[in-house]
Amino acid sequence: MKSGHAERDPVRWQEQVESVCAGQGLHLTPLRRRVLTILSESSAPLGAYAIIDQLSRLEGKPIAPPTVYRTLDFFLDHGFVYKIESRNAYAPCEHLGHAHHGVLLLCDKCGRSDEIEDMGLDRLLQATAARAGFAPHRQMVELVGLCRDCAA
Ligand SMILES: [Zn+2]
Ligand SMILES: [Zn+2]
Repeated sequence: MKSGHAERDPVRWQEQVESVCAGQGLHLTPLRRRVLTILSESSAPLGAYAIIDQLSRLEGKPIAPPTVYRTLDFFLDHGFVYKIESRNAYAPCEHLGHAHHGVLLLCDKCGRSDEIEDMGLDRLLQATAARAGFAPHRQMVELVGLCRDCAA
């Protein structure tokens, strides 16, 4: 089981994303870099419109939403960020390179989200789906509540 409780260093995280991109021949355009910075510097997950707002301010001109959605899809496809469906928000992945089949712990109070992976739960969910003859495309369980700090 892995958990993302370590404090994230925005600069280090971006360097990791850049090295994965370099290794896989993926191109980080200036716009993609800016979206990475916005996501990594935010303490809580961001919705697409919050990203568009910040980007428009940084660029000093309006940014077309489809541009940002395409960028977010690119990050999602490569596992650099994960999406919180219930909040329609995006957060940087703390441990690049893992399959996003885990559990999200979402704090109602401070807005933080942590990713947890549990192989046992993963297998159980897949077996449950298979028994129902269901082939899942996406699997992310979201638990909403209070994080350790907020519950204390
Ligand atoms: Zn992740
Ligand atoms: Zn909290």
